[in-house]
Amino acid sequence: MRLCRYNDNRIGLVRAGGVHDVTSVLQSLPKLTYPFPLGDQLIAHLDSLRPELERIADRVKPVPLADVRFLSPVANPSKVIGTPVNYEDHAAEAIADPVISLAHAEHGKQRKIEEAGLFLKATSSLIGPSEGVVIRFPERRTDHEAELGLVIGRRVSNISEQDALSAVAGYAIALDMVVRGTEDRSFRKSCDTFSVLGPWLVTADELGDPGALNFSLTVNGEPRQQANTRDMIVGVARQIAWASSMYTLYPGDIIMTGTPAGVGPVRAGDTMSVTFDGIGAMEVRVRAA
Ligand code: MN
Repeated sequence: MRLCRYNDNRIGLVRAGGVHDVTSVLQSLPKLTYPFPLGDQLIAHLDSLRPELERIADRVKPVPLADVRFLSPVANPSKVIGTPVNYEDHAAEAIADPVISLAHAEHGKQRKIEEAGLFLKATSSLIGPSEGVVIRFPERRTDHEAELGLVIGRRVSNISEQDALSAVAGYAIALDMVVRGTEDRSFRKSCDTFSVLGPWLVTADELGDPGALNFSLTVNGEPRQQANTRDMIVGVARQIAWASSMYTLYPGDIIMTGTPAGVGPVRAGDTMSVTFDGIGAMEVRVRAA
């Protein structure tokens, strides 16, 4: 199943003919009282709502994809987690280009992923592809990082690597945008609009193995990044287990699983296009603040 959020917070199922409006399913979510639980309530109840989602979708005519403005398929993650230096070729380019590793290189040596740990991005930085990335610091270098994004489906803590994939609701294309500089990653990667997720969530059962997906990114049609998720240093399951060893993961939490070589700058006016096996493609415009 492919689930999206679009236009003015509509919920959609994406099928061959386009987007089917299933927003009325939200009436089936439990009524909540303050303090609201952490996480995304639609993702938390996605499994039980699937039959109803399909029934509603069967009854409505689809809207063509081209007529839809895609928001992030997750509205309320409690965390956006980032995985650094998770492809050898990106680790190598980070050593070769000191601007990439200003904040985390020591004596010209990039820290390995196990030493670096995971990092967090502000949830307020999350957008969907149609919203566009905004350049806040045009005098500094802002880079794209194309990544596999995964969305946690249920509350888990200290989950084993062996069981970890059972906690995944689904996958989406992610862009982990960053201003290069000396500050902490969590600061430079948390600018508004710097976490792009889209264009929809492909449920884990439909995507299958997340460890064998080709993906690529172009800027204004020029190839920049091309890789396969099998080249991750720390695979998807171990990332989930590792993250959950430090903090409880909640439904809707996002992990951006790391970027391969080819990261590079974007400027206002550019268009980034990302294509991913098993998910689809998304275009993201870059604009001035
Ligand atoms: Mn990244």
